[in-house]
Amino acid sequence: MSDKMLKFVKVNQQTPEKREVKKRVDDFKEIYDEFINEKAKEQSSRCSQCGVPFCQIHCPLHNNIPDWLKLAAEGRLQEASELAHSTNNMPEVCGRICPQDRLCEGNCVIERSGHGTVTIGSIEKYITDTAWEKGWIKPFKISKEINQSVGIIGAGPAGLACAEELRKLGYKIVIYDRYDRAGGLLIYGIPNFKLEKFVVERRTNLLKKSGIEFKQNIEIGKEISLETLKQKHDAVLIATGVYKPREVDLPGNNLKNIFPAMEFLTASNRKGLGDKVKNFDNGDLNTQNKDVIVIGGGDTAMDCVRTAIRQNAKSVKCLYRRDRENMPGSAREVYNAEEEGVKFIWLSNPKKFIGKEKVSSAIVEKMKLSEPDESGRKKPLPIQNSDFEMKVDMVIKALGFDPENLPKLFNNPNLIVTKWGTIKVNLKTMETNIPGVFAAGDIIRGASLVVWAIRDGREAALSIQKYLQNKKLNKIKAA
Ligand SMILES: Cc1cc2nc3c(=O)[nH]c(=O)nc-3n(C[C@H](O)[C@H](O)[C@H](O)COP(=O)(O)OP(=O)(O)OC[C@H]3O[C@@H](n4cnc5c(N)ncnc54)[C@H](O)[C@@H]3O)c2cc1C
Ligand code: SF4
Repeated sequence: MSDKMLKFVKVNQQTPEKREVKKRVDDFKEIYDEFINEKAKEQSSRCSQCGVPFCQIHCPLHNNIPDWLKLAAEGRLQEASELAHSTNNMPEVCGRICPQDRLCEGNCVIERSGHGTVTIGSIEKYITDTAWEKGWIKPFKISKEINQSVGIIGAGPAGLACAEELRKLGYKIVIYDRYDRAGGLLIYGIPNFKLEKFVVERRTNLLKKSGIEFKQNIEIGKEISLETLKQKHDAVLIATGVYKPREVDLPGNNLKNIFPAMEFLTASNRKGLGDKVKNFDNGDLNTQNKDVIVIGGGDTAMDCVRTAIRQNAKSVKCLYRRDRENMPGSAREVYNAEEEGVKFIWLSNPKKFIGKEKVSSAIVEKMKLSEPDESGRKKPLPIQNSDFEMKVDMVIKALGFDPENLPKLFNNPNLIVTKWGTIKVNLKTMETNIPGVFAAGDIIRGASLVVWAIRDGREAALSIQKYLQNKKLNKIKAA
């Protein structure tokens, strides 16, 4: 065992500095500073190098965390980066936005023993950002081109991870996406203060330079059918994510200035990328000087409230029908939002929106939580005669997402979906009921996490490789 490790008793836990609140709400830049080299080394050295690393078990990618922490503690950053990349296609993205408190860090043995977790995410980010800076991450060289091609629908993390794994093996890859930029929710959903866009763009550029073809602005189902893609390619992956916003069916829902979260976040991200956005430029999707309420308690709601603050809203309130302990969003993000001036109105639910043309107020009722039901979850119940009125200029609905109706969109009623509308796959092979058509990411799981999308993409790549090898063998046998 290197004498550089097991320092958790002497060295306290430290995360990179968070930028001062007053400064960070004035821009959309990421809120954490980078570790300096010595700090990253020191923090890596806190790892106890467990025989059974629970961090690794609870990382969906089973990243070899103890080994890359040891390499980082020894200053061997290039090797650490190579090891990190051997299981993860975007370590710097996961290091920034994984909910580590629920995954690797939440299961760190040192955390459990009361010493404070090793700051795995920040170190993963540091290792990979350094690798980019030093030019260690290069387009991959293909040793042998294979004359089979895969069409991938969706340039989000699931599609990109699958594309990279298959391209490395020599397959020809074409990614089709209906957006004008690659990255999926990494580019148009998640705001810059969590993930700056150059981080996503340098990844997609790397894939382009490695020979992957990107066809943007093409919606499968409209411009090209799934059937055509199947004929054009030897295998197809559906990695389209979930985009249908969940709705609230309330009186006044049709009033102006009530928006779904993705419309608001996409407009803001597009502005950050320098695009002209009509609905933002005319003031509609801009929260400046407005009293804003965001409905919802997940990470999308947290991204909306913090975006609204940065656009200089007059006030930003988050309405959530359960309490802080029972909200789905990350505790870290709630804390960041509160620091930045967001007010949370726990146990509250909008009942009605009021206004002439535009929304001007909301009637909100107070809620209480029931005893836990069979699922173990406490149900929110309205408190009689508890209504109150809130003045509001803009409402953002962040109630989650469902899958679009893909069998209809793809004009392929044979594509089997689950009762939730997600695509049904054989979980061992990621193959759908249509031979040669695979699926990965949110479209099979429902709204989830980037790290799970990457894992699905990698697993789909392994199965697609097997499928293509068999296809080739069968052709040879038949000839
Ligand atoms: C606001 C927000 C914040 C989030 N924050 C976090 C976070 O902090 N941490 C985290 O881990 N996860 C977060 N997530 C979840 C995460 O972004 C998703 O789980 C992940 O992006 C799913 O990846 P995917 O590749 O399956 O789908 P997506 O990223 O949604 O990509 C799907 C792609 O498919 C394309 N597409 C869809 N239909 C078609 C079609 N018919 N033809 C062509 N192209 C099509 C879309 O344009 C898109 O580019 C957040 C999600 C949202 C909405
Ligand atoms: S990918 Fe996510 S869960 Fe895995 S080690 Fe990195 S931050 Fe932790």
